[in-house]
Amino acid sequence: MGDMNILLLGGGGREHALAWKLAQSPRLDTLYAAPGNPGIAEHATLVDLDATDHRATMDFCIRHSIGLVVIGPEAPLVDGLADNLRTMGVPVFGPNKKAAQLEGSKGFTKDLCQRANIPTAAYVRVSSKDGALAALDDFALPVVIKADGLAAGKGVIIAETRDEAVEALDTMFSGAFGAAGEEVVLEEFMTGEEASFFALTDGSAILPFGSAQDHKRVGDGDTGPNTGGMGAYSPARVLTPELERQVMETIIRPTVDTMAAEGMPYSGVLYAGLMLTVEGPKLIEYNARFGDPECQVLMTRFDGDLIDLLLAVAQGHLAEQGPVQLADRAALTIVMAANGYPGTPDKGGAIDGIDAAEKDGAKIFHAGTTEKNGVLIANGGRVLNVTATADTVGAAQVAAYAAVDALDFPTGFCRRDIGWREVAREAQ
Ligand code: AMP
Repeated sequence: MGDMNILLLGGGGREHALAWKLAQSPRLDTLYAAPGNPGIAEHATLVDLDATDHRATMDFCIRHSIGLVVIGPEAPLVDGLADNLRTMGVPVFGPNKKAAQLEGSKGFTKDLCQRANIPTAAYVRVSSKDGALAALDDFALPVVIKADGLAAGKGVIIAETRDEAVEALDTMFSGAFGAAGEEVVLEEFMTGEEASFFALTDGSAILPFGSAQDHKRVGDGDTGPNTGGMGAYSPARVLTPELERQVMETIIRPTVDTMAAEGMPYSGVLYAGLMLTVEGPKLIEYNARFGDPECQVLMTRFDGDLIDLLLAVAQGHLAEQGPVQLADRAALTIVMAANGYPGTPDKGGAIDGIDAAEKDGAKIFHAGTTEKNGVLIANGGRVLNVTATADTVGAAQVAAYAAVDALDFPTGFCRRDIGWREVAREAQ
């Protein structure tokens, strides 16, 4: 057993995957997690700690000699929890408040792109409906309308007609997204295939951490409303080594350097949502944390010591680390959601068959689950992430759906086509 106590914040599939990897490190003494979930509890001591209470989180770190805090979700980052922990000398994986604006304010990121000459869609920032209506005429249709702040993935509307655009602006400026919608970004619509690219940085050194593709829509064939993500796979081979080099050179490196030069060094994982346009890769948006469910496929492919790596980021020693060890094999994860999601999910449905589903090597990461009287039950929208690896995405897809079919979760559902783009490419 090692001597490192770690506090992991969050309770989704992303954090289960992180907990699973952190627990494999010989450096770990005790892993604490808040709020956690029943899957995380297999690797961690769950603690009753509210991450919005910075004082309580700081006290916990002192009392339990925490050597690293890993912040999973975006809200505590945008809220400045990392800043407060760092003032006490606690190493934190995740950016400070100012740097987390890369996710917390779309307008901030667009302005940064302009200053650093980073390829992205043309845009204007507007803070009133009249201003927005005046600016609207400068954009071709469809036009993209975004709430500036955090809106849990729901603050983006692609308006096909001017009427739809006006309606979207009405919704945003009438407070539907709270403070997140007080400012709005209008954007040129870009066409191309989307891919996600991940890079670790300590503010100066940068290590690429692989690529993935997710599936935002709830229905097969990318239909229906947007969700937090219904499945993902990695690597996204559409992002060729040459395109990855371009992304590093034209997007990631200028972002990290400009943030540092402007006194807001970014430390953590930079998750770039990219549009692969005919003019080359362009930035759609940044996230200041790992994606969920992209983290599940990245961690499944990661062969190194996660504590070493995250600590190197947190302590500013990333330049001393070798390249991130990502296995050549493909990983694919299927989200099982509760019926009703992304509307009001059916809570309380029983889940059985996890052991049967995992018996051929698949791994199930918990998200919205809880335990009642020894029975595992659904307790949220996205409930489980059924993950498998294989030499190809196609083979990983077959293995993951076999595991899905071994589960007994009558009040849940999943998409049946996760990975379809890559499976079609592999068949060519
Ligand atoms: P975001 O939250 O900024 O990632 O936007 C959510 C989704 O909206 C993206 O994954 C894209 O599918 C789409 N999107 C956002 N911005 C644009 C854009 N400028 N052009 C085309 N699609 C976009």
